[in-house]
Amino acid sequence: MSEAQSQSHPEIREAVRRLCAAFPGEYWQRLDRDRIYPTEFVRTLTEAGFLSVLIPEDYGGSGLGLGAATAVLEEIHRSGCNGGACHAQMYTMGTLLKHGSEAQKREYLPAIARGALRLQAFGVTEPTAGTDTTRIRTFAKRVGDKYIVNGQKIWISRAEHSDLMVLLCRTTPREDCAKPSDGMSVLLVDMREAVDKGLTVRPVRTMLNHATTELFFDDLEVPAANLIGEEGKGFRYILSGMNAERILIASECIGDGRFFVDRAAAYAKDRSVFGRAIGENQGVQFPIARAWVQIAAAAGMVDKAAQMFDAGADCGTEANMAKMLASEASWYAADMCVQTHGGFGFAEEYDIERKFRETRLYQVAPISTNLILSHVATHALGLPKSF
Ligand SMILES: Cc1cc2nc3c(=O)[nH]c(=O)nc-3n(C[C@H](O)[C@H](O)[C@H](O)COP(=O)(O)OP(=O)(O)OC[C@H]3O[C@@H](n4cnc5c(N)ncnc54)[C@H](O)[C@@H]3O)c2cc1C
Repeated sequence: MSEAQSQSHPEIREAVRRLCAAFPGEYWQRLDRDRIYPTEFVRTLTEAGFLSVLIPEDYGGSGLGLGAATAVLEEIHRSGCNGGACHAQMYTMGTLLKHGSEAQKREYLPAIARGALRLQAFGVTEPTAGTDTTRIRTFAKRVGDKYIVNGQKIWISRAEHSDLMVLLCRTTPREDCAKPSDGMSVLLVDMREAVDKGLTVRPVRTMLNHATTELFFDDLEVPAANLIGEEGKGFRYILSGMNAERILIASECIGDGRFFVDRAAAYAKDRSVFGRAIGENQGVQFPIARAWVQIAAAAGMVDKAAQMFDAGADCGTEANMAKMLASEASWYAADMCVQTHGGFGFAEEYDIERKFRETRLYQVAPISTNLILSHVATHALGLPKSF
């Protein structure tokens, strides 16, 4: 039995690998050079049904669990592709599924499952609030049957390639709330109606091709019917989706890590220096072996967190641990892979430098390592809060 077959969801993995084979390194290199969104790749994944695995069958999806979604994203990344262009649909959809009204679910979920609507944008982060989400300032004021939204967001990825955005904003000022996490609400913004009519989207060029943007809201009108759940409870709704996000992104790191190990092991066997394969030297072998061990350990935590999530258990700590271990393992593997390739690790055509840049993101976003350690210290170990 091959390693992939011994993992969960072998049929899904095999199908994703076949799909990804049509999007080789040259495809990603070309897009990366000009920072172009991988529209064709996302369309192909959508048409194959891989982005709607978590949508229940009643709403047109496959109704599978998070474990299936992690298999999809891991294989995308192991194949040298990148799920960052479309992974948000899997977890933002959960906010709508868990907290939306039946009418909202009927209106949006089947269209998302068919690929007629894209729900790829998730608007939380703001320049002045940073990780302290309770200090967001984007404000939605209820006026009749509308909300009038004013404020600013930063790092909102895929906003230019999405029809809908899940937006977190304040509906009650922080100082008027019993708890700082009260008074925030989730609105579903129809980007097709909002852009240039109160919403300005400005791309932010980064070290990786991630289609990220900053958003400016200037009296944007959003129908009150687009409020998800109850006004003032939005922070809780967003938090429940964040566990899924962390587990899914951890699975992308596992895929990246396996990509780097596959490439490094192959190169170390092939590259001959001083009359022998560089992989005959233990100084080259051991870092590859260490990366493989670290990825296997992190993958175990990702599986555990996904199983807990699917069982409806409280998996906040495990989701955080999975994301931290997987992002650190993939970063170690990335560094090892560059070193194994010597000068060729820096050459665009080998894809190593691109994946190196891409996997670095995950120790910062969607949550930075320090904040994970803080969560573990205070929630799992009962240490005093420092902020
Ligand atoms: C390419 C990219 C795409 C993104 N996509 C999205 C998106 O689609 N939607 C969205 O809403 N957001 C998105 N983000 C934002 C991302 O979630 C944040 O960048 C991340 O959560 C870190 O927040 P920050 O950048 O504000 O850092 P800050 O909160 O400013 O923190 C800066 C540093 O200080 C550390 N730090 C802060 N406070 C503490 C403390 N109390 N103790 C110890 N260390 C601390 C942090 O760990 C971090 O290393 C994206 C970011 C990037 C770079």
